[in-house]
Amino acid sequence: MYGCPTIVNNVETLSTVPFIIDKGADAFKKWGFENNYGFKLFGISGCVNQPGVYEYPLGVSFGELMEAAGGVKGTLKAAIVGGLSVAVLKAEELKDLTMDYDSCAKHGTALGSGGIMVINEDFSIPELALRTAKFYAHESCGKCVPCREGSHTLVEILKRIVAGSGEAKDIDTILAICSTMRGLTLCPTGEAFSVPIGAMVGKFRNEFEALIRA
Ligand code: SF4
Repeated sequence: MYGCPTIVNNVETLSTVPFIIDKGADAFKKWGFENNYGFKLFGISGCVNQPGVYEYPLGVSFGELMEAAGGVKGTLKAAIVGGLSVAVLKAEELKDLTMDYDSCAKHGTALGSGGIMVINEDFSIPELALRTAKFYAHESCGKCVPCREGSHTLVEILKRIVAGSGEAKDIDTILAICSTMRGLTLCPTGEAFSVPIGAMVGKFRNEFEALIRA
């Protein structure tokens, strides 16, 4: 048996079922659009004025969701739009993003859980990468080497960088660990941290380099 349990139903699935039973599938498909029908629960957290869970039809714009959440606190720098296992998007990539499967894939990320983490200019991406690595190192069941060793190695390297004692080669080492891990782990956990951490380093390399130079 693999280390991760299978979730058969989640709260979002169960919240959709009564509507479909009551109104029928055709009524449900009036919301959203082809391949992206229905509603989604967006859990918005981070740098917004009114964090919370917001239910909207698929295809709602990222900007409209930010308005619903009371607006961004400070200047928007980036967002993770599908939970902590998808690639971060920079502010300029969020401008034309709609919250559906197709638009997220086109932008190089995924709708995932709909957990949206909003990041403003005051927030350090290297620190976020370290927190992400720590979370997944704790989550790793240790059954396969790339996930077990990779997650803990990323924690150690990122700790050094955040503490100001990183070396220039550390950045490429992180990227190499993230890219070689893909497809080599028994369950999706390996990709769940290699994708977001690889994207944080790839898109915000300047922040990591600035800590190493400091
Ligand atoms: S990828 Fe990680 S969590 Fe999944 S089986 Fe391997 S060690 Fe365990």
